[in-house]
Amino acid sequence: MADLYIGGEWVDARAGGRREIRCPADGSLVAEVAEATAEDTEAAIAAARRAFDTGPWPATPAGERGNLLLRAADLLDRDAEEFARAESLDTGKRLVESRYDMSDIAACLRYFGKLAGNDAGRVVDTGSADSFSRIVHEPVGVCGLITPWNYPLLQTAWKIAPALAAGNTFVLKPSELTPHTSILFMRLLAEAGLPGGVANLVLGAGPSAGAPLSEHPDVDLVSFTGGLATGRVIAANAAATVKKVALELGGKNPNVVFADADFETAVDYALTAVFLHSGQVCSAGARLIVQREWHDEFVDELVRRAERIRLGGPFDENAETGPLISAAHREKVERYVATAIEEGAVLRTGGKRPDDPALQDGFYYLPTILDNVQQGSTAVVEESFGPVLTVETFTDEDDAVRIANDTHYGLAGGVFTQDAARAQRVANRLRHGTVWINDYHPYLPQAEWGGYKQSGFGRELGPTGLAEYTEVKHIHQNLKPGPQHWFSG
Ligand code: NAD
Repeated sequence: MADLYIGGEWVDARAGGRREIRCPADGSLVAEVAEATAEDTEAAIAAARRAFDTGPWPATPAGERGNLLLRAADLLDRDAEEFARAESLDTGKRLVESRYDMSDIAACLRYFGKLAGNDAGRVVDTGSADSFSRIVHEPVGVCGLITPWNYPLLQTAWKIAPALAAGNTFVLKPSELTPHTSILFMRLLAEAGLPGGVANLVLGAGPSAGAPLSEHPDVDLVSFTGGLATGRVIAANAAATVKKVALELGGKNPNVVFADADFETAVDYALTAVFLHSGQVCSAGARLIVQREWHDEFVDELVRRAERIRLGGPFDENAETGPLISAAHREKVERYVATAIEEGAVLRTGGKRPDDPALQDGFYYLPTILDNVQQGSTAVVEESFGPVLTVETFTDEDDAVRIANDTHYGLAGGVFTQDAARAQRVANRLRHGTVWINDYHPYLPQAEWGGYKQSGFGRELGPTGLAEYTEVKHIHQNLKPGPQHWFSG
C-alpha cells in the first residue's frame, strides 16, 4: 500500500521500506505500512514548501479555512467508529476510550474552526494623527509535526487544527507504532477539500523519517510531543536553523490529597489519575502525595481496588484498562519498578505481568503501587509511563506544595480538599501547567495545555494554541509623507 501522503499523492517509500504494525493486546499483525527515510521526508517538506509559497492555502480567508475544519469534524463524526477501531488496534486501548478520543478530536477541530477568522489583528495608537499602525498575524510557514503513540490522533489534532486554521502547511510524522488514524485523517482532510500539498504525511522511525523536520532549513516551525530525551535532541537540532520550536514533553504529576477531602471521591480519582490507559498518559497522576493521617487507610483502599482492575484487549467489554504499547516499553516499566524497590520502595501490589493465560500474548502489566518512596529516588524523579503509582506523605499545606513542586517536570497535577480557599491557594502555588481541583484529567479545547520546567515550552489548545502557529507582523504607515531632513545633505 502506498501510505505516505506527499503533495496530494499517495506514494510508497522511495527505498521500498515496510514496517509491520502489531496490536499490543495480542501481538497480532494489524497491517504493514510504508517506512519512510529522510529522503521521503525531504520530498514531503518540498511539497509543503511549494504549497505554502505558491499555493492558495495561506491566502485563503481565515473563515474559509475554519469552515474546512468544521467539515472535517462532521466527516470524523460520520467515520468515528472506523477511526476508533483503527486507534484501538494500533494502541491496544479499549474501544470505548478510542471513541471518547474521536469525539474530543471533533471538538478540537470545531474549536479551532470557529476561532479561525475571529482575529482581525489590532490597531496600535501611534500617538500621531499622521501615522497608522496595525498588528497582523500571519502563518509561520511549513510546520513539522511529530507526535507520540499514546493518544495518536488526539495529539496530532491539537497540532493540525491550529496549524491549518492559521494558514500553514505541514508535514506530519506520527509515532511509527501507531500510524493508522493519521492515514485515515489525511484522506478525510482531502475529502473536506484541503488543497494538495498543504497536508503531508510520512511514516517511520524518528531518527530517520522524523529528523529532517527539526533540521531542514525549509521547515519554519517544529512542534513535538513526546519524551524529554527526544525533545532535547529536537530542540538542539532545530537551533541550527533557528526555527520556532514547541515541546510538549513528559510529566511526573503530583496528585495531592488532603485529609479534609471527600475520601470516596479522592480514592476513586486517584485510581483513574494513574491507571487510565495503563498509565500511558503524559498527565497521569503517578505521584500520590497524601496527608500523613490518611496514609494507611487511603493506600489500603487503593491497593484493594487496584487489585480488582480488569485487564483486557480493546474489544473485551469487561476490560477496564489495556496493555502497554510494546514489549520494549513493558521492559522499561519493569526496570523502573525493580530500581524503585532496590532504592527502598515498598511494593504493595502489582509489580509483575498478569498470570491470566488469556493475556500472555499481549504486553500487559499489573496496576502497581509503590509505597514509602523517598524524595529524590528514581521512582519519584523519573516518568514510568506505565501503571505505577508512587506514594509519598506530607504534614501540612506548605509541605504538600514543596513536595509537589520538587520535580524537574511541571505538566499537570491534582488537589483534593473540601476547603475551597486551600484549594485555590495550593493551585496558585503549584508550578505545573494544569491544576485540577477535586478532579483529574479533564482538558478543554478552549483551555491552554502545556508544561512548566522540563515538561516543555509553548502551549497547545486555547487562543495561545493558535497563536503558536502565527508570526506577528507590525505594519506602520506614514499618512503624511515628506522629507525628514534627519541628515543635512
Ligand atoms: P518519543 O519521544 O519516543 O517519540 C515521540 C515521537 O518522536 C515519535 O513520533 C518518534 O518517532 C519521534 N522521534 C524520536 N526520535 C526522533 C528524532 N531524533 N527526530 C525526530 N523525531 C523523533 O515518545 P513516545 O514514547 O512516543 O511518547 C511517550 C512520551 O510522550 C512520554 O514521555 C509522554 O509523557 C510524552 N507525551 C507528552 C504529552 C504532552 O502533552 N506533554 C502528550 C503525550 C505524550
